[in-house]
Amino acid sequence: MVGEPLFDRLCLLGIGLIGSSIARVAKQRGDLARTIVAHARSAATLDRVRELGIADVVEPDAAKAVEGADCVIFCVPVGAYAGLMKVVAPHLAPGCIVSDVGSTKGSVVRDLLPLMPPGTHLVPAHPMAGTEHSGPDAGFAELFDGRYTMITPIPGGDPAAVEKIAEFWRRCGSMVETMDPVTHDKVVAIVSHLPHLIAFTICSTADDLAEETKEAVLKFAAGGFRDFTRIAASDPTMWRDVFLNNREALLEMLGRFVEDAHALGRAVRWGQAEYIEDRIQRGRKIRRGLIERHQA
Ligand code: NAP
Repeated sequence: MVGEPLFDRLCLLGIGLIGSSIARVAKQRGDLARTIVAHARSAATLDRVRELGIADVVEPDAAKAVEGADCVIFCVPVGAYAGLMKVVAPHLAPGCIVSDVGSTKGSVVRDLLPLMPPGTHLVPAHPMAGTEHSGPDAGFAELFDGRYTMITPIPGGDPAAVEKIAEFWRRCGSMVETMDPVTHDKVVAIVSHLPHLIAFTICSTADDLAEETKEAVLKFAAGGFRDFTRIAASDPTMWRDVFLNNREALLEMLGRFVEDAHALGRAVRWGQAEYIEDRIQRGRKIRRGLIERHQA
């Protein structure tokens, strides 16, 4: 038996990997929302969502999409938030909870909070789950299973709205944690944004090599390089926006990384075997920790 839905009308602004995964869980469970409304920019995406049958209403006009919704979730690249919010803010229903899934949180508060109409509630969130694929076909209902979702509540915000979004993510299969946006942005800078920056860089460095070497790189790409290419296959718009909207924390982590990489390089140059081994051991320890926490 399906329990009482958390929301009456759930509007997903953006229906790519994350938005369509939410829509799929909502359809499958039946206790997240009575009606699922999906909005995207392009006719192609909207047509595909209709074909997939993962939303009850497919709405090309963002302002119309949010009308009457008691929950609106931004599932677009973080660089698109400010423009989209200007369009939808005047149409938000009284009491509406506005949430999101963006990979940065400071920028989300900066771009959404000032435009929130009185009587509506902003609850920023970030499901720490994803793949390198994008678009409505990439989503799947199990994406959030056993993965963390970070909620960064607005100081002085409505605790009932925060609890509803927490319950929403628990029903999606997530483990929920709360955090302030500054800490969130630092944590994701090291665990997600810097690794992507390194992957994009390593692939473009390989691409810069002479033609024959490149062939060899592709031919012999085993473990290490191949793992980087998976991460580097991620969506350019999404990642451009993440880098530009988590500038400070990302540059801080990059600075530390470059220092540490130089130190390891120096140890290699001077044959400091013990230092090198210690760094490798620390890597192994982190990997073991992830496996023990079932996050590998
Ligand atoms: P995606 O698969 O590329 O989908 C993006 C969706 O947003 C598409 O439906 C796109 O519509 C729509 N869109 C883009 N700009 C828009 C605009 N100005 N107005 C209306 N719709 C617009 O992206 P995603 O991977 O789901 O990422 C969505 C959000 O989730 C991002 O903020 C990202 O930071 C966050 N996130 C991503 C991951 C991940 O691993 N991918 C993980 C956690 C969080 P069209 O198809 O019509 O262009």
